[in-house]
Amino acid sequence: MRKLSRIGMAGVLAVLATAVAVWGQAQQTASKPLARPARPKLVVMIVVDQMRADYVEKFRGEWTSGFERLLEQGAWFRAAAYPYAATSTCVGHATISTGAFPDSHGMISNSWWDRDTQKMVSCTSDPNVKNVAYGGGSTKGGDSAWRMQLPAYAEELKFQTGGATRVVTFSLKARAAITMAGHKGDAATWFDGSSGAWVTSSPYGTMPFIEDFVKKHPVAEDYGKTWSLSLPATSYLYEDKSAGALPPDGWSNSFPHPLHGKEGSTAADEVFYQQWSTSPFAETYLTKLALAAVDSLGLGKSGATDYLGVSYSSVDYVGHAFGPRSREIQDILVRLDKDLGELFTHLDQKVGRANYVVAFSSDHGVVPIPEEMQKAGVDAGVLNLVDLKDRLEKALEAFNYSKPAISRITGWEIYFSQGIYGQLRQDPAAMRAVIDAALTTPGVFTVYRAEDLNGGSKSILETRTAMELSYFAGRSGDLFVVPKPYWLLDSTAAGKTRGYATGHGTPYNYDQHVPIFLMGYGIEPGEYFAPATPADIAPTLASLTGVTLATRDGRVLSEALRKRRAN
Ligand SMILES: [Zn+2]
Repeated sequence: MRKLSRIGMAGVLAVLATAVAVWGQAQQTASKPLARPARPKLVVMIVVDQMRADYVEKFRGEWTSGFERLLEQGAWFRAAAYPYAATSTCVGHATISTGAFPDSHGMISNSWWDRDTQKMVSCTSDPNVKNVAYGGGSTKGGDSAWRMQLPAYAEELKFQTGGATRVVTFSLKARAAITMAGHKGDAATWFDGSSGAWVTSSPYGTMPFIEDFVKKHPVAEDYGKTWSLSLPATSYLYEDKSAGALPPDGWSNSFPHPLHGKEGSTAADEVFYQQWSTSPFAETYLTKLALAAVDSLGLGKSGATDYLGVSYSSVDYVGHAFGPRSREIQDILVRLDKDLGELFTHLDQKVGRANYVVAFSSDHGVVPIPEEMQKAGVDAGVLNLVDLKDRLEKALEAFNYSKPAISRITGWEIYFSQGIYGQLRQDPAAMRAVIDAALTTPGVFTVYRAEDLNGGSKSILETRTAMELSYFAGRSGDLFVVPKPYWLLDSTAAGKTRGYATGHGTPYNYDQHVPIFLMGYGIEPGEYFAPATPADIAPTLASLTGVTLATRDGRVLSEALRKRRAN
C-alpha cells in the first residue's frame, strides 16, 4: 500500500491502461490459430528392451512403418549411450524415467543383496504393497517404486499439472512398467509369466478398461500359434541356426517356433507363457493394450498432458536366447515396426499428429554369444561367479577369517559377510590376496573396492567413471569385478548348462550404446551426433511440457527442439 500511495493514482491508472493493452494484444494473438498448442497433449514413451543402437543401421532396410517413421520424421541421436556400467533393465528404465543415473536414483540392478534382511531383493519388491491380477487371474508378491530415490518425470508431470495428467504404462516386466510410471500412477500394468495374468499393485489401482480387455483377449488365445519368418529367407543377415543359442523349452534354435507349451501339453502353461513372451505376439498384445488405453481413457483429451509409457520386453528375451546375430532378432524388429506403425497411426487419428510427442529408447544393449565370438578368434568367454566365490574363499583360508567370508556375489558385486569387509580394510595382506585371486580368475578385467567408487575424485578412466555412476552406498557391494570385453557374467553352478545364451550389464559399448529418437510435437527432425544419454530424455520432455525436475544428470536435447519463431 505504501508503494501505491507514492506512485499516486495517476500512476495506477497508467499501469492499468498498459495492462489492458497487453491483455488486448494477448486476446488478439490467442484468437489466431496457433501452429501448435502450448504443450503437447500426450507424451508417448516407448522403450524397446535390449535394443542395440546398431540394429537401426543393420535392419532399417526392411522397416516400412513405425521405425521408418521415427527415422524419417524423428530426431535421431546416433551417439546416444549410457555412461554407467550397470546396463540392465531396472537401471535403464529408472534412468530414462528420472533423468538421473543409478548413483542418484538408487536402482543399481534388477536385484541386489539386501544387507539388512540378508536376502536378495528385486528393485521393485515391496513388502508393504500387494499385487493384484486382472481378469480373475492369480499372482503373488508386491511391487512398487519405493526403492527408486527420485520421482519419475511422469509423476512430476502429474503433480505439477494438479493431477489432471493421466499416467498409464504397460510392459511385460514389473521393473519397466513401475519405474516408468513412478511411485504412483493411474495404471501400471505388467505380465506375470508364471500364471499368465496381467498384474498391477495397490499404489496404482485398477482400471476397468484393462479388466475388460484382458477378459476379452486372454493371452491363452495365442496358444497354438507359430512364429515363422515374415520375410523371404534371403532378406536375413544371419544363418538360421545361431551357434550357442539357448532357446526357451520346446523350441529349437531354428524357425519356425510353435507356441505349444510343454511337450505333450494341450493348453496354455508356464512354458507357453515363456514362449509367448519371447515372441512377437507379446509385442502386438502390448500395442493393443496401449491402443485400448488411448481410446478408453481418451488420452490426450484431459486438458493437461497425459503420459503413455510402453516398454516392449520381448526383444530382450529373444536376445538372451538367440543372441544379437540371429534371424529371431531381425524378425521380431520387423514385426515391431508394424506394431509401432499401428500405434502412431492410431495416435494421429485420435490425438492428432501435431499434438503428441514420442520419445523412443532402450534400457541397454547386449553382447554377442561368447561361443560365437570365440569362433571368430576373439578373446571371449564366461566369467563364472560360482568359481570366483570359491577362489576368493580359498584365498582367505590362510588368514583365519570366519566362513563363509562372502554372503553373495551377484552380477559384479561382491558382498562380504557382516564385518568381514571392515576387517579386510585393516588387513592389507588379506585384501591383497582376495584381489589377486579375483584378478587371476578367467575373464576378470579389473577389481574395484567400494571406497574407490564412493565419492572419490572422479577418475578419467572411463570404466571407473562408469562404475562410480553405478555405485549407491549401502546397496552396492564391497568389491566389484569388471569382466573383460566379450566376457559374460554367469552364475551357473559347475556341471549345469547356463539358462541363457548371452546377456548384458557391463561398461562396454555393446551394452551402453542405444538408440534415442524424439518425434512429433516441438521436435526438429534430423540426425544428431552430439553426445547424449537416455538420462537426457526426461529433462527434454520436462522442457517441452513446462515441468521442472529436481535432480537430473541429463541435459535438455535442445538441438532437436523446434525454436518458436516470432510471427
Ligand atoms: Zn535382459
